[in-house]
Amino acid sequence: MSDKAFFVGHHAALDFLNTIAAPREETIEFIADGNAYVTWLTDVGLLAPTEAQGLLDKFGKPALDRVASEARELREWFRRLIAKPARRRTADDVATLNQILAIDCSRRQLEESDKRLVLREKREFVRVRQLLVPVAEAIGELLANGDSSLIKRCANPSCTLWFYDRTKAGLRRFCSAAVCGNRAKVAAFRERQRRSK
Ligand SMILES: [Zn+2]
Repeated sequence: MSDKAFFVGHHAALDFLNTIAAPREETIEFIADGNAYVTWLTDVGLLAPTEAQGLLDKFGKPALDRVASEARELREWFRRLIAKPARRRTADDVATLNQILAIDCSRRQLEESDKRLVLREKREFVRVRQLLVPVAEAIGELLANGDSSLIKRCANPSCTLWFYDRTKAGLRRFCSAAVCGNRAKVAAFRERQRRSK
């Protein structure tokens, strides 16, 4: 598939929600199999290209495909959760997320970089399901630290994309000014024309 996933979310957790979209009416699944899921993780910056290498050899296609299927379930679980008002979300609601975070295998390690020592987090993928951890962490980060009033769905009713509004004024309404913003402008222009006739 030549279509690239959308990275309009301005937060990895919302880009994750946007991995299924219908930009030209027909729905596109961007994490349809294990390979696509690993590519997406790398593109969104949740997996280093060096970490992505060798995952297919290590776990094999069927196991990676299963984890992609779990990722799609996690995505739809998250979509339901985000529809719930932030104030009413409880620890019980996020048990699914905590179960995934519990299988993490990461540690910090000192490394050399530009002739000095830096402390870096290293994540090991011993079990294939640990590939869900970076996404669970991004979702957790958004739920815990994000401003829920800035988590928005595109104002175009036929668009399903979500984004985190990082504009200064907090007035971003569309996933993309060029696509949905423009569509809305054209529609408003037509409406004004129709009324002035
Ligand atoms: Zn949109």
